[in-house]
Amino acid sequence: MKIVCCVKYVPDATADRKFAADHTVDRVGVDGVLSELDEYAVEEALQIREGADDCEIIVVTVGPEPARAAILKSLQMGADAGVHVVDEAIHGSDAVGTSLVLAKAVERQQADLVLCGMASTDGSMSVVPAMLAERLGLAQLTFGTEVAVDGTTVRVRRDDDAASEIIEATLPVLISVTDQANEPRYPSFKGIMAAKKKPVQTLTLADLGIDSSEVGTEAAWTKVEEMRARPPRSAGTIVAADDGAGAERLVEFLASQKFI
Ligand SMILES: Cc1cc2nc3c(=O)[nH]c(=O)nc-3n(C[C@H](O)[C@H](O)[C@H](O)COP(=O)(O)OP(=O)(O)OC[C@H]3O[C@@H](n4cnc5c(N)ncnc54)[C@H](O)[C@@H]3O)c2cc1C
Repeated sequence: MKIVCCVKYVPDATADRKFAADHTVDRVGVDGVLSELDEYAVEEALQIREGADDCEIIVVTVGPEPARAAILKSLQMGADAGVHVVDEAIHGSDAVGTSLVLAKAVERQQADLVLCGMASTDGSMSVVPAMLAERLGLAQLTFGTEVAVDGTTVRVRRDDDAASEIIEATLPVLISVTDQANEPRYPSFKGIMAAKKKPVQTLTLADLGIDSSEVGTEAAWTKVEEMRARPPRSAGTIVAADDGAGAERLVEFLASQKFI
């Protein structure tokens, strides 16, 4: 069985995240990490491998040079090899462009199962998995909280507030998993050392047969016209000492904000 995990490199949530002059996220000057929600996809692949006879896990990322860190972390967790698509022309791609590059890179792997996170922790659009499935002509079982592979049949449980669904399909399929699906493992010292020797293939748009006019800021369907920094958070109203009128003042405040 061959599993491909799509993992994104995102600005570290604890870093001072900023935008570049062209209104795209500064992914080079800011520390970045493997998107936390993609750790659940990698963990799911590792657990499926533990239950399979013969299973290979490839992680694929589309991103600038530093994005290699997302692959390295996945290899340290236990994935077998990586594919890094890096090309200046990809810069500023929207979800449509990103899904095109990903599809061409994933297609080459002839995978039985494509795994994605439920969303990235920066763009957070939750659309790339569906776009990828469409481009690859695969059934998509998204937002899975439980995944079971039995031969060529895969069953995914999807929970929402009102109900749970069990969706079944035949491999090859694309699945995205939520942060309820598992508990991602921390790389062991052995895993960290082994990752250094694991192969990472670097590909360009030309390698994938994609014309640079199909991706990047110019090809994006959405354009960021203007950006303004979010106003600093105000201190808010602090009720220091409750002289017995605290509850009344709270109700007045909630009413003034039309919360009640
Ligand atoms: C703040 C912000 C706002 C944005 N607004 C828009 C917008 O309005 N419209 C638009 O089209 N684009 C927008 N983008 C760009 C968009 O985020 C990127 O194109 C991105 O690569 C795909 O969208 P996403 O990160 O939201 O992924 P999602 O749609 O949330 O997909 C998540 C999953 O797809 C896979 N995946 C996503 N990107 C990659 C990657 N580069 N490499 C490998 N796997 C990946 C991962 O498995 C991930 O878990 C925005 C980006 C940012 C940071």
